[in-house]
Amino acid sequence: HSTIVCIGELLIDFFCTDTGNDLIKGMKFEKQPGGAPANVCASIVKLGGHAMICGKVGNDPFGHFLKNTLEELKVDTSMLVFDDTNPTTLAFVALQENGERDFVFNRGADAFLTEEDLVKGKIDSARILHFGSATALLNGPIQTIYLNTMKEAKFADQFISFDPNFRTDLWKGNEQEFVALAKRAITFSDFVKVSEEELQLITGIKDTAEGVQAFHRDGAKFVAVTLGSRGTFISNGMTQETIPSIKVKAIDTTGAGDAFVGAMLYQLAKEKVPKRVLENVEQIREITLFSNKVAALTCTNVGSIAAIPTLDDVKFQKK
Ligand code: ATP
Repeated sequence: HSTIVCIGELLIDFFCTDTGNDLIKGMKFEKQPGGAPANVCASIVKLGGHAMICGKVGNDPFGHFLKNTLEELKVDTSMLVFDDTNPTTLAFVALQENGERDFVFNRGADAFLTEEDLVKGKIDSARILHFGSATALLNGPIQTIYLNTMKEAKFADQFISFDPNFRTDLWKGNEQEFVALAKRAITFSDFVKVSEEELQLITGIKDTAEGVQAFHRDGAKFVAVTLGSRGTFISNGMTQETIPSIKVKAIDTTGAGDAFVGAMLYQLAKEKVPKRVLENVEQIREITLFSNKVAALTCTNVGSIAAIPTLDDVKFQKK
């Protein structure tokens, strides 16, 4: 079974469309489906892979909208749970005149995923488990099952993917707690994707190559550090190199990281034993080149899920 199960939040992003206004003055908002694990699922299925979301939304119009959006894309929603008590998680974002983000986060149902919501058989039979939530390491019942599920999957020798997805807005004042939890998660991980900022925050090391070695010492088998337009730095502990991206006219980089992760996992899941691919330098180089292309194309459209290219979009891209 080549299924990739992505555990974590689905949420609605309300983007303020009154240019330059903060959330006090802003009046108009655009509703967009989101949540990093949902974006990764979208990337996998758009390329032709099989993705299953495992998360919780409110039993309200927003929760149903999220479920419908993923189902239209053919994401497996059989582990998406409706919560009758807590509303769907909502994020309100405005880009102010000075370039800073104004942000209000109404955390809801996503925090309340519990052990009972997980279908053990589905988790156990997944080829890859992806832990790429931006909220699961915050407090809430999900924090416990998140790390426990990783630990059990490691024990069962499953392929574990982790993206710490640090958000300044969510961890202000508690950065060290985030670092400790992310380090714990890295000890269980085969594949770790970080930005340069996250690598520096978690390791305290400025140099990318050195920081990546610290992740390997903690237990990560493969590390991908996304470098924006410069591409991706990859390392399997023995070989380290920067894989370039393609040249595009980037208009919105939202979701590029998630599209990249989805593309990597989609290709890894094609192999019966994805862990073996991580040792094959030629193969992992090709896989990263392709994923950079998927991510770069995502930057050429606005939004996250809607901006992710299909396999045909990637094939017919000239470069
Ligand atoms: P997030 O989506 O949370 O911002 P991130 O910080 O990982 O995630 P980036 O490093 O900006 O995202 O981008 C991820 C990948 O997308 C890069 O590794 C690269 O392959 C591609 N990419 C991003 N920006 C560009 C760009 N301007 N031109 C070409 N490729 C890009």
